[in-house]
Amino acid sequence: MRKEEDIRRKEVKMPHPEIDYKKCTNCGTCIEVCPVGVFVKKGNKVVVAKPNECIGCRACEAQCPNEAIEVKE
Ligand code: SF4
Ligand code: SF4
Repeated sequence: MRKEEDIRRKEVKMPHPEIDYKKCTNCGTCIEVCPVGVFVKKGNKVVVAKPNECIGCRACEAQCPNEAIEVKE
């Protein structure tokens, strides 16, 4: 199982952000800085709504004031 996942990740490189909700304060900065609208606010919570749109620029990771975002390749 794990091997299959590794192979798939190597074949298809798809960057996408992950939010650590232990650190996130739902400030909305990532919504503002993402050039392709990956993040949206759902109620009071900021969520990764369109991970497939991510171009891997890492602006969100760099600008998040709480270091709550990690962009995975
Ligand atoms: S910038 Fe960081 S702290 Fe602010 S909403 Fe996005 S993930 Fe949460
Ligand atoms: S890495 Fe860039 S494109 Fe991807 S979610 Fe963050 S700001 Fe948006």
